Amino acid sequence: MANYKSIAIDGPAASGKSVVGRSLAKKLSYDFLDTGIMYRAITYIIQEKELDPTEASKFFINSELTIEFANLENRILFQKKDITPFLFSDKINLQVSKYSKLKLVRKNLVIEQKRIAEKSNIVMVGRDIGTKVLSNANLKIYLDASIEVRAVRRSNEFNALSTEKVKKMIESRDVIDKSRSNSPLVIDKHAFVINTDNISIEQVVEDILSLYKNG
Ligand code: C5P
Repeated sequence: MANYKSIAIDGPAASGKSVVGRSLAKKLSYDFLDTGIMYRAITYIIQEKELDPTEASKFFINSELTIEFANLENRILFQKKDITPFLFSDKINLQVSKYSKLKLVRKNLVIEQKRIAEKSNIVMVGRDIGTKVLSNANLKIYLDASIEVRAVRRSNEFNALSTEKVKKMIESRDVIDKSRSNSPLVIDKHAFVINTDNISIEQVVEDILSLYKNG
């Protein structure tokens, strides 16, 4: 079996993981997977179809849910229909951590994430990538930023809600993600921690590239 390379990037909501990960993948000509979108997809299915979370989480394994990787954009198809535009609503933001903390939901999604990493070189971002999904990753990064900076970034991105409301939503997700008993968001002992408060995305990407090349 080919031995593909992987870079794991973890961190709290809106710490810059996706934009940094995608840019890094582009520079390295690696694939990119934002695992958050998978937990969002499960949440969407549970909400829309009123399904049991464990049943919904099997949908990646049985190919009812599939991921497209074209141009480093991750798109999720449910029964061949693109559901990606529905995955970033407030309704999903409010519920996703409630389902992603469930043991069987995580188990099923991690199976699929590991399978994806066996097929190509990849930059994978999420909450448990360095600690659980790719524990042998070639490089592990933990991106952090203050809650104030993260809330401003997220409200600029979606600009529907006030910064204060976004801050509360991000904080409550972080609390659940960090305190759950199954694969909580923690800093892996081999991870390099980068605080993105006062550094540009370009600089963060350059810093990670030099860690990778010199590592
Ligand atoms: O990264 P994003 O904010 O899109 O993730 C949405 C949610 O999915 C997180 O708040 C977390 O509850 C869950 N998640 C997770 N493990 C991952 C990626 C995301 O539990 N690897």
